[in-house]
Amino acid sequence: MAGTVWDEVLDTEHAVVVRTYIERWPRKDRVPEKVLIIVVEPDEEARERCPECGERGKPAEYDVVRWRTLDVHGKRAFLESRLPRIICGEHGKITAAVPWARHDDRFSRPFEEFAAWKAAHAPWTRVAAELRVTWEALAGIVSRAAADAAAGLDRLEGLRRIGIDEKSWGKGSGKFLVIVTDHDAGKVAWIGEGRCQATVRAFFKALGPDRAKLLTHVSADGAEWIHPVVREHAPQAQLCLDAFHVVKWAGEKLDELRRRTAGELRAAGRGDEAAALGKGMWALRKDYAKLSPGQRGSLAQIAVTNKPLYKGYLIKEQIREAFKVKGDQGKSLMRGVTAWAHRCRIPEFAKLAKTLSRYRKPIEATLGGGPSNGRAEALNSQVNALITRARGFRSAAALINMIDFVHGGLCPDSPYA
Ligand SMILES: [Zn+2]
Repeated sequence: MAGTVWDEVLDTEHAVVVRTYIERWPRKDRVPEKVLIIVVEPDEEARERCPECGERGKPAEYDVVRWRTLDVHGKRAFLESRLPRIICGEHGKITAAVPWARHDDRFSRPFEEFAAWKAAHAPWTRVAAELRVTWEALAGIVSRAAADAAAGLDRLEGLRRIGIDEKSWGKGSGKFLVIVTDHDAGKVAWIGEGRCQATVRAFFKALGPDRAKLLTHVSADGAEWIHPVVREHAPQAQLCLDAFHVVKWAGEKLDELRRRTAGELRAAGRGDEAAALGKGMWALRKDYAKLSPGQRGSLAQIAVTNKPLYKGYLIKEQIREAFKVKGDQGKSLMRGVTAWAHRCRIPEFAKLAKTLSRYRKPIEATLGGGPSNGRAEALNSQVNALITRARGFRSAAALINMIDFVHGGLCPDSPYA
């Protein structure tokens, strides 16, 4: 008996360590790899149990099986045990349950918990290499961890203000997801594959008509194909736009204007001024409150040397301000800035004004009680970062599991915490 130290090391109850030994695995052109084998058996209480009902069954035949567990001193470690097939009165002939792993799994639970937690925090290709498992094995682990964490959890309960967004997750026409976020909890509530009305309908089907009636605000990023489905299933909900999308539109117009202005300056032989505009670019893009003294200086210079660009900047900042203030004051600020953009004689911003007018109703719904900007924007950019980071994802299912796991409130704390 190896005793209680192993019990603690393995983080598993109801397992008894029988003995341990080192196996040497040959490697090409290198010394053999030393692998630690920990021979275990379930204790009296846990042995010969049916994985379905937990009843004890009569063992019929035995196999010797290994489960990969966490490395010990950099060595790969495996639990090894005689695993019986038992006869259960209710479930017939079935492989017995073991206390250290999920049924029919070849990784120990502590290994899977650790791997899933790592996968939630670093690129999968790196995690797979560090843990010495294949990418597919890691995907399987995350799926199981996400399914376990989601079991018994109703993530559609209590939804009031939600966002429905489509996201592309790779090159190719079929790679789209519809992501529903809970604005109040700041979490992802539901994900479906596709970018069509049927996908949004699938969400409302999962939600059910009673809970659909409780929705007060539904934001969508200007994707108008989403609107009819929302009206059909939750006619009482206000359709709104996420504020950060509107601020982003303004930022894009400002970038267009800056590029056009720089081009015109260069064409007129004023390359120095064009370069100075390039330097001032960050000052134009950022929130004024977050500018460094140097950036404020560049902005002041733009105010003097380039009136239209500065005007565009003020329009963008006023839009941001309207979403900060919200309520009636926010609405009147937004109406003011829309009118200003309409008559500013800057083609880029006249276009923006048209868009703002077209979306006046959903924008006002946002200002009148829709989701707050900061949280929605943070969640959106985190999901985008995950999609970018997960370039190795070959299937939507793996990506959906990962987003659910990390941003759906399913990822556990660090196993080391
Ligand atoms: Zn059974």
